[in-house]
Amino acid sequence: MRNHLLLGAEAIGAAALDAGISGVYAYPGTPSTEITEFIQRSPETVHNAVRSSWSANEKTALEAALGMSFAGKRSLCCMKHVGLNVAADAFINAAITGVNGGLVIAVADDPSMHSSQNEQDSRIYGKFAMIPVLEPATQQELYDTTVEAFALSEELRLPVLLRLTTRLSHSRCGIRRLSARKQNELQPESDPKRFVLIPSNARRQYDKLLDLQPELAARSESSHLNRLIEGAEKSGIVAFGVAFNYVMEVIQAHGLSKPVLRIGQYPLPEKMLRRFIETCETVLVAEDGYPVAEEYIRGLAGNPKVHGRLDGALPRSGELNADLIAEALGIRREKAPEVLSIVADRPPELCKGCGHRDMFEAISAVMNNQANHQVFSDIGCYTLGALPPFNAIHSCVDMGAAVTMAKGAADAGMTPAVAVIGDSTFTHSGITGLLDAVNDRNAVTVIIADNTTTAMTGGQASAATGRLQHICEGIGVEKEHIRTLVPLKKNLEHNITVLREEIAHEGVSVVIFLRECVEIAQRRLRSAKQQKRNPVKTAS
Ligand code: SF4
Repeated sequence: MRNHLLLGAEAIGAAALDAGISGVYAYPGTPSTEITEFIQRSPETVHNAVRSSWSANEKTALEAALGMSFAGKRSLCCMKHVGLNVAADAFINAAITGVNGGLVIAVADDPSMHSSQNEQDSRIYGKFAMIPVLEPATQQELYDTTVEAFALSEELRLPVLLRLTTRLSHSRCGIRRLSARKQNELQPESDPKRFVLIPSNARRQYDKLLDLQPELAARSESSHLNRLIEGAEKSGIVAFGVAFNYVMEVIQAHGLSKPVLRIGQYPLPEKMLRRFIETCETVLVAEDGYPVAEEYIRGLAGNPKVHGRLDGALPRSGELNADLIAEALGIRREKAPEVLSIVADRPPELCKGCGHRDMFEAISAVMNNQANHQVFSDIGCYTLGALPPFNAIHSCVDMGAAVTMAKGAADAGMTPAVAVIGDSTFTHSGITGLLDAVNDRNAVTVIIADNTTTAMTGGQASAATGRLQHICEGIGVEKEHIRTLVPLKKNLEHNITVLREEIAHEGVSVVIFLRECVEIAQRRLRSAKQQKRNPVKTAS
């Protein structure tokens, strides 16, 4: 047994290594990034040759993890909640094929949208795919449950979804680690027809998945993640995942004696829930995310006993916390202390010296003189170009959408149709939109903000570094309309001229603004200096 102080996300990485994974596949996305980063910097990753580089997007990550499972080895796939939308095709079908080596899909939800475009709840995807969902409440549970999830996946021959939320992922705790298990031997799937989803096989596999449902429900009924904490009062609480902690905090702080049914494994344990609700006069449903279980427990006709996010006992959106639970239980909240006027607002902004600043200066100079000055953007640091002083971009919908939205706008007759996308985002899902534009010979200009990294999530490798020019050429963009610029003050006039030329081009053009992220450059210099001072220590 080893003790380590770890973030919740890191606890998952540690557990996956200790469970004997042979690979982790992921696309960075807050609050899931640290799972893969932990695995990447762990000495056992190198020692045991665990595969751990970043994938182009969440779909390719999940497909690769499934391939490793097909080969008989254990694999972990990590993403943030919106990444599961990208991986949804592979995700739902992986439930039909089933797995060979254990496959755990760790999905980090972000209630309150700390760094996301929506609040969606991955438990719904788990139900949609009809696979087990595990929802730990503490960091130690994250560790233990991840280890168990691999065994469960192999036993049931199904992928297992591990749901975590920002609060759990990004808080630190002492973790007891088990001794590491050896990796599985290479043992490719003995019934490869399972993985050939032609209709006749798919129907057979789907029936198998349906047949497994009573088994999954029975496991939930007896899971240690689903358990009753007795109490003498008649009003009870059903608490899910991390919300269980908030509930217990309020119960302990106020000396309450409410029975609590804690749920951490899905499908929902129906019998357990029914028994609990029958014995209570009122029930508060506390779940972080959507009112997924509350809707189910209330039923269409409604159940006047049941309270939660749907009737306003708890707020419909945002993260839960102990204060909100207390208020829902009729305990008056103490007024939060006023924020001192000396504490100034600090709106997010691009780092000083960031190349995107010079890029936006050039874009604004060109676009402000156009009849249509709107620019479609993607998701990355450059999305901050929507804020003053730039006000230079006018959309941010999902990864890759900048290119396809500009293409659609060009189809609608909008000129110029301009997209801004990052290098990593481009290979994530912008690349296919560019292919569409090339095939349709649209008049679009795709500006790629190439900072040679995935900066917004902390500087993970980008799948396109150093190859954007060739990739665009390979897709069919004319060589003379792929221009590379360096976003520096001294180049402003030249950059404006080139942008003007390409925006005027009545076909597809790509303008790559290439300059390394300042943060990454500084980190690289620091590590080079450190290595010079202490080569042995840094190299190990
Ligand atoms: S992290 Fe890098 S790319 Fe992002 S704003 Fe800062 S310097 Fe620019």
